[in-house]
Amino acid sequence: MKALVIGGAGYIGSHLVYELIRDNHEVIIFDNLSTGNKNNVHSKAKFYLGDITNNEDLVSLLSKESNFDVVFHFAAKLIVSESMEKPLEYYYNNVEGVRTLLENMNKFKLNKIIFSSTAAVYGNPIKDICEEEDLTNPINPYGETKLICEKMIKWCSHVNNLKYGIFRYFNVAGGDKSLEIGYDYHNPNKTHLIPIITEVALGIREKLNVYGNDYDTRDGTCIRDYIHVTDLAKAHLLGAKHLLSGNDSFLLNLGSNNGYSVLEIIEATKKYAQINYEISKRREGDPSILIASNEKAKEVLNWRPELKLDDIIKTSIEYCKKIL
Ligand code: UDP
Repeated sequence: MKALVIGGAGYIGSHLVYELIRDNHEVIIFDNLSTGNKNNVHSKAKFYLGDITNNEDLVSLLSKESNFDVVFHFAAKLIVSESMEKPLEYYYNNVEGVRTLLENMNKFKLNKIIFSSTAAVYGNPIKDICEEEDLTNPINPYGETKLICEKMIKWCSHVNNLKYGIFRYFNVAGGDKSLEIGYDYHNPNKTHLIPIITEVALGIREKLNVYGNDYDTRDGTCIRDYIHVTDLAKAHLLGAKHLLSGNDSFLLNLGSNNGYSVLEIIEATKKYAQINYEISKRREGDPSILIASNEKAKEVLNWRPELKLDDIIKTSIEYCKKIL
């Protein structure tokens, strides 16, 4: 297939690019390098610098490169806490970006999209394990903007000849086994647990703040469903092949059916190093439990996460050690 990967220089996008190239596909990357990095661009992929909120950038790309079988979209802002402080940036980048992309896909007759959505669309889930049909009720602008995009894509598929695959990611972490790509450890504003605990394990950061131990969970700390970025990338490849084989559009959770609390993540990381931590106050916008049912992904794509929590922690620590 010929794939356009929007945001292919970023953390998750670059892992998909590696999987596409391992599977012998042609890859064009389009990225504004706001959070992505040129070092993540695979040598066999072609790179275009540009922004999806900029119509001219997209028109220029799609006038030069054509006949894409599928467009993958990763170019979004995705930090919950930042979205609580700067909601309009999230509406502009995430919603306007996807609107401009869809408009140009229609204009240039590209009719398959794989879109990255998030567990944050569920908000505070009404049951412990989220299923795709559950009520969506985001409690932060990040989740809200992703839900708007999901709806926009669905409406476009209703009126245009557009097929879509929407993936709702749970907590993505870890790095490629080659250790050539991984999480952006140079970013000074880290908010995610696994990169932060990795830095504590390596002595780069003094301690971890555990955001609240008074949640209604087994040990009082929040529970999340952690999925290795390579498993996630493989699901995207399967999803694209599924659409290219003529199957219907789909919306699927990508997670493991299993959750770990913050204290359990600390315990699992202690295998590699001493972890200093301190209980601090709750972080705004954090639901207590988010776990994915992945039954539908298993059924529709025959996908299963193969890597475990220890693979996530290990690749995260090894990659961070390598680059810093
Ligand atoms: N968390 C924490 N300390 C940190 C970062 C995160 O206790 O320094 C907690 C956070 O409250 C949440 C879980 O770890 O319960 C996962 O947070 P993360 O930001 O990685 O992902 P999110 O689920 O918010 O997308």
